[in-house]
Amino acid sequence: MAWKTIKKPREGWAVEPNLLDYERVRAQFSWEAARRELDGLPGGRGLNIAHEAVDRHAAGAHGSHLAIRWMGKRGEIRDFTYADLSRLTNRFANVLRKLEVQKGERVFALCGRIPELYVTVLGALKNCNVFCPLFSAFGPEPIHQRISIGDGRVLVTTTTLYKRKLAAIRDSLPDLRHVILIGAPEEVRAIPGVLDFHQLMDEAAGRFEIPPTAPEDLALLHFTSGTTGKPKGAMHVHDAVVAHHMTGRFALDFHPGDIFWCTADPGWVTGTSYGIIAPLTHGITSIVDEAEFDAERWYALLQDQKVTVWYTAPTAVRMMMKIGTEVIRKYDLRNLRFIASVGEPLNPEAVVWGQEAFGLPIHDNWWQTETGGIMIANYAAMDIRPGSMGRPLPGIDAGIVHLRKDGTVEEVTAPHIEGELALRPGWPSMFRGYLHEDERYRKCFAGGWYLTSDLAKRDAEGYFWFVGRADDVIKSSGHLIGPFEVESALLEHQAVAEAGVIGKPDPVAGEVVKAFVSLKPPNVPSEQLRAELLGFARKRLGAVVAPKEIDFVPSVPKTRSGKIMRRLLKARELGLPEGDTSTLESE
Ligand code: AMP
Repeated sequence: MAWKTIKKPREGWAVEPNLLDYERVRAQFSWEAARRELDGLPGGRGLNIAHEAVDRHAAGAHGSHLAIRWMGKRGEIRDFTYADLSRLTNRFANVLRKLEVQKGERVFALCGRIPELYVTVLGALKNCNVFCPLFSAFGPEPIHQRISIGDGRVLVTTTTLYKRKLAAIRDSLPDLRHVILIGAPEEVRAIPGVLDFHQLMDEAAGRFEIPPTAPEDLALLHFTSGTTGKPKGAMHVHDAVVAHHMTGRFALDFHPGDIFWCTADPGWVTGTSYGIIAPLTHGITSIVDEAEFDAERWYALLQDQKVTVWYTAPTAVRMMMKIGTEVIRKYDLRNLRFIASVGEPLNPEAVVWGQEAFGLPIHDNWWQTETGGIMIANYAAMDIRPGSMGRPLPGIDAGIVHLRKDGTVEEVTAPHIEGELALRPGWPSMFRGYLHEDERYRKCFAGGWYLTSDLAKRDAEGYFWFVGRADDVIKSSGHLIGPFEVESALLEHQAVAEAGVIGKPDPVAGEVVKAFVSLKPPNVPSEQLRAELLGFARKRLGAVVAPKEIDFVPSVPKTRSGKIMRRLLKARELGLPEGDTSTLESE
C-alpha cells in the first residue's frame, strides 16, 4: 500500500530544528568547517574524542551540568556531572598509564550499561588506547575470537560475567595482560590473576593530561560480521568525533538542555557513537537505563526523566506496537520532541504508529559499523515518507550503484532502480580498515565508492529506500550476525556433518537465526538431538547469536566450489522460487 507522506510544518516550531534548509546547509557544508566547531586539545596538541566529549565541558560553568543519569536495575539512580565524568575518566586513564598500557593498545569491555563502562571507554580514549566493546550477551566463543583478533591487552568486565564467560578461556588468551573486574572486593579477591576496578580507581590520581593525539590516531574498534570468515574489526579514529557531533546535530536534532535517551546496547556501535560520544560532545544529558526492554517502564522513564530526544530501534518499536497505544495515554510525554530509530528496516506501519501513539512520527535513519555515524536520515524538519530511510546528511554523498562483471561500477541516477547502496569516502567517522585484513578492506571500495553491502533504491526526490542485504548476514533484534560464525560453532558438535544458517523473517525481531544441519552417520535426527544442538550452540555463542530453530536435512545445498547456498535454503524455507541453481552441486 502507498503510505501518506507525513508533512512537517515550515514554521512555528516550539524548538526550531537544526536542519531546516537542507539544500542550503548541504551546499555550504564542509568537514573542515565542522571540525572547527570542536575545540581540539589545548595547546594545539591534536584532537581527542574524550576531550571533546568531557573535558571541554567540565572545565567551565558547564562542569556542573548533568552528563549522565544512570538508572540501575533495582531503581537506584546515580548522577554524573561533566566535572564528575572528567575526574573519573582521568582516574581510569591514570590506571591504564600505571599498568603501562601503551598508546594504540586495545582495551576491551564486556559490560552491560553500568557506570564503570562509560568511565572505561572515555578513560581509555584519554590514554590514547583503542577501545573495543563486547556484547555482554555473547557466549565465550565470540568473546574469545574478538579479543584474540583484536590483540586485547586489557579487559574490563564484571565478576559475574568473568565467571560465566571468561574464566574458562582466560588461559587461551596469553596476550590479554590485565583483567580488571568490577564487583564486590571479596569476590574480586577470590579470583586469581585479576585486578579490582574500584581499588585501582581509588589509588589513581584525579588529574590527567591527555597526551598529544593526532586526528588519525586509532580510537575505536568495532567488530562486525560478514557472510564468511572471522568477525571483522572495523577501525575508527579520533577524527570520527567530528561526524558524531555533526550527526548528533543534524540527525538527532540535539539542542542545549536536551535530555537524550539512546536505548542501544553498549556492545554495538550505536551504543558508543550515540550512547556515549555524540550527546556528550553537545554537552547535553544522557539517560542510561541498565535494565532491558519493558514498555511500561520505558514510558514511565520518558515521562519522569523528561526525555526530549529518544533514539531507539525497530524491534523495540514493534514490541511497543504489540502492546498498543492505550497504555501510553497514562503518561505525560509532553517533553518528548523527537524520536529516531536505527539498526534494521523500520516498517512504515511503525512510523505512522509513532504519530498515533506519541504524536510524533518515528524518524528512521541508516548507518552501519563501518560508517561510524549516521549517514542517511529522516531529520526533524523533513517530510517523512514512511518506509524510507531518509536522505543523506550534509557532508555525505550516497548513491545507488551497479557492479559490472569487470569489477567497474556504474552509478544509477534514474530513480526507483534497485542497486547497491554506496557512499563517497571521506567523512571523518569512516572506518580506516579492518584490523589485520587489508584485502577485505580494499574489497569494500570500487570506482571511488565505498560499497555498503546493502541493496537500496532512491526516489525522484532523493529519499533512499532499503531493499535488503546484498550478502547473507542476519539482523536479529538489531544485532548483526554472521552465518559463518554460527555454522562453525555447530560444526564443533560431533554429530554435525554440515550446517547452513539463514535469517528467517520474524514479525518482531526482524529475523531469527535458523540452522539447517546434516548429521554424520550413525547419528539420526531426533528431538533430543535438536535440543542438544540448540543448547550446545547457545552455550558457545550466547542466546542472541545462537540459532532459535534447527531443521535436520539430508545434506546442505552447496555450490560446486563448496560454498553453502544460503539463499537457496532461505528460498526453500519461505516457499519462494529457488532462482538460479546452476552452480548447485548435486544434493
Ligand atoms: P551494524 O553494522 O551492526 O550497525 O549493521 C548495519 C546494517 O544494519 C546495515 O548495513 C543495514 O543492513 C542494517 N540497517 C541499519 N539501519 C537500517 C535502517 N534504517 N533500515 C534498514 N536497515 C538498516
